Amino acid sequence: MSVTFRKLALVGIGLIGSSIALAARRQNLVETIAIATRRAETLAEARALDLGDIYTLDAAEAVRGADLVILCAPVGAYGALAEAIGPFLEPGAIVSDVGSVKEHVVKVVGPHVPEGVHFIPGHPIAGTEHSGPSAGFAELFAGRWCVLTPGADVPAAATARLVAFWQAMGSMVECMDAAHHDMVLAITSHIPHLIAYNIVGTVADLEADTKSEVIKFSASGFRDFTRIAASDPVMWRDVFLTNRDAVLEMLGRFNEDLSVLQRAVRTGDGPALEALFTRTRAIRRSIISAGQETAAPDFGRPHEAAPPATPLPVRDHGGGDDA
Ligand code: NAP
Repeated sequence: MSVTFRKLALVGIGLIGSSIALAARRQNLVETIAIATRRAETLAEARALDLGDIYTLDAAEAVRGADLVILCAPVGAYGALAEAIGPFLEPGAIVSDVGSVKEHVVKVVGPHVPEGVHFIPGHPIAGTEHSGPSAGFAELFAGRWCVLTPGADVPAAATARLVAFWQAMGSMVECMDAAHHDMVLAITSHIPHLIAYNIVGTVADLEADTKSEVIKFSASGFRDFTRIAASDPVMWRDVFLTNRDAVLEMLGRFNEDLSVLQRAVRTGDGPALEALFTRTRAIRRSIISAGQETAAPDFGRPHEAAPPATPLPVRDHGGGDDA
């Protein structure tokens, strides 16, 4: 099975698009990389980083002659992008994406994919809270899962080719149904982001005095929420607009469990609290033994003997935001 593609078109060149460009180039998976994005500044940044071979503000031009097209823009932009590129897709090409929701993508992109083009939605469960072309790095997908949701009409050989592409970039790949993906990601990624946005938003509304103490003592838990809550606002807006049903379903369950916890706190039910916290600790251990997190104290953050005069540059991607 050849993993090599003649021309890869990346439509959108932020964190995920640029990481694909770097990983595919490093692994020699593509001959030519065409990059399309919306704004001239972003295109210039991608060019300065030497991420591809062809640079354009016209997505249709980028996909002409491509045998692999990957949409790497926020999900809310997919419908218009698919409509623009649809007539220019090459017969036999694979069209995929990296969006954090999948049923919506099938709904808005699917109708624009012509007969003879293989549409295989995808989602690398890898990311950071940083955005833009310079946020990307070739190792982003190493050891991370990538979910593909091919429809029943996609030939097995096309799916196998895309699976091999992601594996060559270091990912572990699993194929599943789009609706199942959305339900699983609602609880593992979307609800945790909603909780982080909510708790950080609550702090933002606190009285000024309390707020400064929260910032000062943030290492006691709050800080980890702020990292997630610093994720790209447009991307996450689109996630909640397009995975509404699964998020609401999981939020319902979350609220039920929160009420149980609230009651345990109110009634001083120590055994119930301890039993839950023991179960949750076991889940963290199983994530570490699955290689999806580091067991290092404080998430492996470097600790200096004395605090540095200026903040250290943060490149904390070990937490594996998704996305
Ligand atoms: P990003 O760094 O913000 O980059 C987004 C890219 O899409 C930029 O090139 C941007 O172009 C382009 N874009 C934005 N709005 C557009 C529009 N309306 N029409 C055309 N292009 C547009 O985003 P990202 O983090 O790479 O995320 C891209 C996709 O990956 C999203 O669908 C997200 O759900 C998915 N994803 C993200 C993560 C994560 O952790 N970040 C993880 C897995 C999957 P301009 O700068 O030129 O406007």
